[in-house]
Amino acid sequence: MDGAEETLRRDLANKQAAVDAQAVAVRDLKTGGAPKPDIEAAVEALKVLKIETESIAGKLQAVIAGTSSGSREAFRQAVVNTLERRLFYIPSFRIYGGVAGLYDYGPPGTDVKMNVLAFWRQHFVIEENMLAVDCPCVTPEVVLKASGHVDKFTDLMVKDEKTGTCYRADHLLKDFCKEKLEKDLTLSAEKASEMKHVLAVLDDLSAEELGAKLKEYGITSPDTKNPLSEPYPFNLMFQTSIGPSGLSPGYMRPETAQGIFVNFKDLYYYNGNKLPFAAAQIGQAFRNEISPRQGLLRVREFTLAEIEHFVDPDDKCHPKYGDVANLEFLMFPREEQLAGKQANKLCLGEAVSKGTVNNQTLAYFIGRVYLFLTHLGIDKERLRFRQHLPNEMAHYAADCWDAEIECSYGWIECVGIADRSAYDLRAHTEKSGIPLIAHEKFSEPREVEKLVITPVKKELGLTFKGKQKMVVEALEAMNEVEAMEMKAALESKGEVEFQVCTLGKSVTITKSMVSISKEKKKEYQRVFTPSVIEPSFGIGRIIYCLFEHCFYTRASKDGDEQLNVFQFPPLVAPIKCSVFPLVQNHEYEQVAKQISKSLAAIGISHKIDITGTSIGKRYARTDELGVPFAITVDSTTSVTIRERDSKDQIRVSIDEVASVVKEVTDGQSTWGDVKWRYPTHSSTSIVESI
Ligand code: AMP
Repeated sequence: MDGAEETLRRDLANKQAAVDAQAVAVRDLKTGGAPKPDIEAAVEALKVLKIETESIAGKLQAVIAGTSSGSREAFRQAVVNTLERRLFYIPSFRIYGGVAGLYDYGPPGTDVKMNVLAFWRQHFVIEENMLAVDCPCVTPEVVLKASGHVDKFTDLMVKDEKTGTCYRADHLLKDFCKEKLEKDLTLSAEKASEMKHVLAVLDDLSAEELGAKLKEYGITSPDTKNPLSEPYPFNLMFQTSIGPSGLSPGYMRPETAQGIFVNFKDLYYYNGNKLPFAAAQIGQAFRNEISPRQGLLRVREFTLAEIEHFVDPDDKCHPKYGDVANLEFLMFPREEQLAGKQANKLCLGEAVSKGTVNNQTLAYFIGRVYLFLTHLGIDKERLRFRQHLPNEMAHYAADCWDAEIECSYGWIECVGIADRSAYDLRAHTEKSGIPLIAHEKFSEPREVEKLVITPVKKELGLTFKGKQKMVVEALEAMNEVEAMEMKAALESKGEVEFQVCTLGKSVTITKSMVSISKEKKKEYQRVFTPSVIEPSFGIGRIIYCLFEHCFYTRASKDGDEQLNVFQFPPLVAPIKCSVFPLVQNHEYEQVAKQISKSLAAIGISHKIDITGTSIGKRYARTDELGVPFAITVDSTTSVTIRERDSKDQIRVSIDEVASVVKEVTDGQSTWGDVKWRYPTHSSTSIVESI
């Protein structure tokens, strides 16, 4: 807990105890018939103590308010109002009352999303030579059974025991702790510290631990205050059936990754049977969230952009690791989280050499994700990479980090970057029977000693009849230690008891039923299941955080109004440029239309506005959409270009204007670069006041 907050909570508890003791003293003096001056002195002391208590309570309130959600909520409201009013997004099916967790992107939102996805393609697929794929959303059950989603893709849910309303168990605990910490000034320093710890390890709690905490804190149904059930798992996948018979169960995919894994064999071949390589996919994912909330952050259908980078498990070096090793940014290793510390700026290369990040390839992607997000306009001071806590990470994973972005809702996981080892390919190999493996050809053949187990099927068949297959499989599945122990036992005693799991009992194996030996063999290649490193991007979450990081307000010229601005970098801006004639006049309109044509011809999205509204109002409208440049036609030979944030203007000839805008929106030049090449235009002729 923050030191100041802890001290104030302790001081407040001590002062309150002193007030209570003094109140008792006053009462005793009064009932004991003490002299008047003594009573008056005691009452005065009580008053002073009460004033001091109030003063400490006020200070504590101020410290909490500095970190509380009140001001953040007001900021969020301003952002969300602008986003909804300008149709960045719209609650889906609104005319029918809407559906929780489903949103449409409106015109500017769709453009922002397209721009983010185009940059993702450029930054990852093109610059890293990835193989793009596009797989169906409807997925047969067998695929998601193999991946573990049918059995384990769950969140812990609790039900109102009387009304049956469902809640996410961890959300109730989180909300309770946050509210207590923000509003309950009587909370002891110890309890406050405990609740902060609960918040830090929330993702790590088991069903039993969550249930115990809900009980301990007396948490009830938020809407009715009825008791809650124990937490139990709820599968988040939307089930469907494929075809009319109803016999072929399927699910809407909860992630795009499985489409890549099941195609591994063909993709590996396409890549010339060489590792490493990465496949990438952008597509819709579906999760039947228990309680969707926080607008675009937790929805039931969303766009995922995923990369599966396949790599040799014995060599996770990355050839371009050097490009990112010197980057420094906020990292939050698990030890720091468990110790209740804050994220710290670390050098990525040092984090790898100290073993904090498991391997170079994982670190390479962490670095590339950092560059991707900051280039989009995410504030690097509000971006951190948090390592998964031990229970949060799947048992097979080697290491996982989430890129978390801070917004008015707190720190939000926007990208998961996980080294999933060989789990996925092994799981699909086992279920499909198709080996999803890679080969490393040796330049020189290598001599190796190999264990050879040869079940004698004729003998086994005579003894075990219909169960022979299971005994054979169990014998062949023995590892080296088990096999050598059996060999020794068979040689000394002639028979041995052998547990066959699939039969659920042990059987007697005799010497004639199996031969076990070690043979020297020449190997020409190594066969292995590749590991996979998976960066998985929740595009909607990134976009929402970007909206918040880019939003600010500034006073109108006459200071009587606050104007909203989205300072999107040109790369992200939904519309790159607006074109306005300064006044309504046929000649200027013709020039504006001619400029609009040249902009369209070179692919610059723009908005032409020939209404007679004041120029200041027109600027304000486009600032609210985050349009970075505005061309104002105030002559038939040259025009002005105004930059949104500085409001600086330059004068450019009509023939050049489209190419200048292209230069600054494509990122070939910055506004600072072009500003020096053209005369500055004083804004006195173009009045921005509205
Ligand atoms: P996961 O497979 O759970 O690690 O999710 C991958 C990414 O998808 C996360 O990092 C989030 O950015 C995003 N995501 C997960 N669930 C949701 C949701 N319900 N709504 C929006 N984005 C989500």
